[in-house]
Amino acid sequence: MRRRVFPFQSPKGMHDILPADFLYIERVERALAKVAHFYGFERIETPVLEDVRLFERGTGPTSEIVTKQMYVVKGKRDTGILALRPEMTPGVFRAYIQHGLSRLMMPGKLYYNGPAFRHERPQAGRFRQFQQVGFEVLGTGDPAYDAQVIMASWRLLSELKLKNVTVRVNSIGCGLCRPVYVRRLKEYYKKKISGACRTCQKRFKENPLRLLDCKEPKCQPLKEEAPVSLDSLCSTCKNHFTAVLELLEGTGAPYLVDQFLVRGLDYYSRTVFELFAEGIDAALGGGGRYDYLSEALSGPRMGAVGVALGVERIVEAQKTQSTVVPARSTPDVFVIYMGDEAKKKSFALIEEFYKEGLVARESFSRESLKSQLRAADKEKTRLALILGQREVFEEVIIVRDMRTGNQETVSLKKVVETVKKRLH
Ligand code: AMP
Repeated sequence: MRRRVFPFQSPKGMHDILPADFLYIERVERALAKVAHFYGFERIETPVLEDVRLFERGTGPTSEIVTKQMYVVKGKRDTGILALRPEMTPGVFRAYIQHGLSRLMMPGKLYYNGPAFRHERPQAGRFRQFQQVGFEVLGTGDPAYDAQVIMASWRLLSELKLKNVTVRVNSIGCGLCRPVYVRRLKEYYKKKISGACRTCQKRFKENPLRLLDCKEPKCQPLKEEAPVSLDSLCSTCKNHFTAVLELLEGTGAPYLVDQFLVRGLDYYSRTVFELFAEGIDAALGGGGRYDYLSEALSGPRMGAVGVALGVERIVEAQKTQSTVVPARSTPDVFVIYMGDEAKKKSFALIEEFYKEGLVARESFSRESLKSQLRAADKEKTRLALILGQREVFEEVIIVRDMRTGNQETVSLKKVVETVKKRLH
């Protein structure tokens, strides 16, 4: 008989996170909580769906993630058009203003952890649903926070023992000096653009800064000769960038000024940066200052700086480098039963262990002693407790050391106490 093929698969570009991957993800989440706590970032979670205009105006009308990659959801009459968030920053910003957090937290230091959605062409390290973690400092233009956000990101990756974590950093100027630079850039590209790739030709018209993002081999010589933003910075931006670099200098975090680094999103100003680790080409995270986001959302004038890191890529880097292979935590005891009476007693005993703060496992769907012992072995438990019909009758239980195979029979009443003693 032919077996029927199960007809469902996860949507293209979206993946299930299976238990084995959670071992890696939970490591990231523990490191995130530790670093956030150290620097005083508090957790925020915003809805997965937001008013589409938040991203159109916040993330920017020319950015690819808005023009091409956003999942737009037609809401009912009372919600208008919504979008699955392609990134977190605009939502976090909205929440900060909406709830008047600026009165309580100045600056607002927030961190997040959740899914984001972009309709990209799926490929290695690029998914349509992915998990982002990140830090935001809202309400200040102080360069110390640019440096602190960079340090927090660097610490997060270093906490995971990732090798050769490096930060690439640049400044793309402010509303005064950036237009001057963009004019110079356009001037430079004007005569040469016909020889560039199609994406560059489009960027020349729509978002010239991103010409520097091009990875196309034939555009590289053109790019290398192009004017760089650092040469066009106004004195305030220059001082701001110097201050960021000086602060980083004293920390031991390896950073590199990359004059070609620009970021895909429209709202960045001044500092932009990306983080990399050995063995993985794509950036693990990126961020920068976004002093104009608030105004773009019709909010008050306020400086802000933040970073977003992709959890899938961090997990990939952990796997590629295999510096640490996270292990499942092992239970304290494994309870084995034989016969219906013993099964009932085991069930109750397991609940007893919960109350005592010990972790007890079982294999209720297996019957034989041999297969239950095998299951105990697989769980790598130190002690197995064996309860047969005779033991139930005599109100005792066998305590077996799984490493040595030594067994001892103890009173059922004293088993928790015995286990506690043995484990210490
Ligand atoms: P971005 O908001 O584009 O700067 O992205 C910040 C980080 O999120 C990147 O460095 C990646 O680690 C991660 N990321 C962005 N887009 C994707 C995607 N489509 N799939 C997986 N990770 C992503």
